[in-house]
Amino acid sequence: MRNLLLRLSESKRLAPWMMRNRASRGVARRFVAGESLEDAVAAVRVLNRSGYLASLDLLGENVADEAGARRAAGGYLAIFDCISREQLDANVSLKLTQLGLDLSETLCQELLEKIVAHAADLRNFVRVDMEGSAYTQRTLDIVKRARARYPSVGTVVQAYLYRTEQDVRALLDAGCRMRLCKGAYMEPPEIAFPRKADVDANYIKLMKVLLASGIYHGIATHDPNMIQATKNFARQQKIAPDQFEFQMLYGIRTDLQRQLIREGYRLRIYIPFGSDWFPYFMRRLAERPANLVFFLRNLLPRASKNSSP
Ligand SMILES: Cc1cc2nc3c(=O)[nH]c(=O)nc-3n(C[C@H](O)[C@H](O)[C@H](O)COP(=O)(O)OP(=O)(O)OC[C@H]3O[C@@H](n4cnc5c(N)ncnc54)[C@H](O)[C@@H]3O)c2cc1C
Repeated sequence: MRNLLLRLSESKRLAPWMMRNRASRGVARRFVAGESLEDAVAAVRVLNRSGYLASLDLLGENVADEAGARRAAGGYLAIFDCISREQLDANVSLKLTQLGLDLSETLCQELLEKIVAHAADLRNFVRVDMEGSAYTQRTLDIVKRARARYPSVGTVVQAYLYRTEQDVRALLDAGCRMRLCKGAYMEPPEIAFPRKADVDANYIKLMKVLLASGIYHGIATHDPNMIQATKNFARQQKIAPDQFEFQMLYGIRTDLQRQLIREGYRLRIYIPFGSDWFPYFMRRLAERPANLVFFLRNLLPRASKNSSP
């Protein structure tokens, strides 16, 4: 089921139907703050007031032309201006395929550096999300080149990939800040651990390497076992709670989110917004069967009503 949903997340035929459908739009709102920057700012304000940090993601990936990539870059410059103007405690997460990685590495590098330079001017930070394995090496290369000019950029490493331990060591040598996650894409067993137990074991191993590095990293997960292992390790190693942050997705495990804040940990919520929510939404459905059941329950009554004479 997970693989089917991840395959469907790339479907160019399903996307427009889902994005028009009222039921899917309604369910997607659980995971997406809204379509406009104003919606996202409102969500950040609510979270900031309760002590949460935020990372804003203007939804979009695999843009098909240069104009789309430049439009997305312009959107991110405007987000940084807005964060500064509104004095929000937020940074930005973006995907390189949204900045034209499928079209030209040169274009993508140019646009990323423009955004990172602007973030640096405003003393802010850009997190480059990690996409499917076809993009891993190019993403790391582009981030490393950008970081050599502006340190206000970091990236994401995925515990399900065999290569990640080596990537983590190379990124640490370059002083790069990282977000550790399990990985959300469909990957073959030749390059990624197929079993959850192995992904989890690798996650814990990498979490320890990151926390012990002395660089400020993000531990991104909703898994109570990963969270507990992180807390235990930090306590044993006398790593203060302000030396790292937990990260979670908007709308997911808000009970655990509240608990971490109550316990005094730093927690950043990844807040996606925009109209291009389909692939993001499908990846969230793939992560948890209960999300799919909830979605189908919302979809089916309307579908049967629509099909009645
Ligand atoms: C801040 C953040 C940024 C991320 N950035 C990236 C990225 O750049 N690249 C990338 O490949 N992946 C990214 N991910 C996604 C990540 O790789 C996982 O797919 C996702 O976080 C689920 O893994 P988990 O660690 O929560 O553990 P899992 O073992 O998948 O889940 C543990 C528990 O968390 C809860 N849970 C997990 N997912 C959901 C969901 N969708 N809905 C409801 N409950 C859920 C359930 O209670 C589940 O039992 C990011 C995740 C976070 C939190």
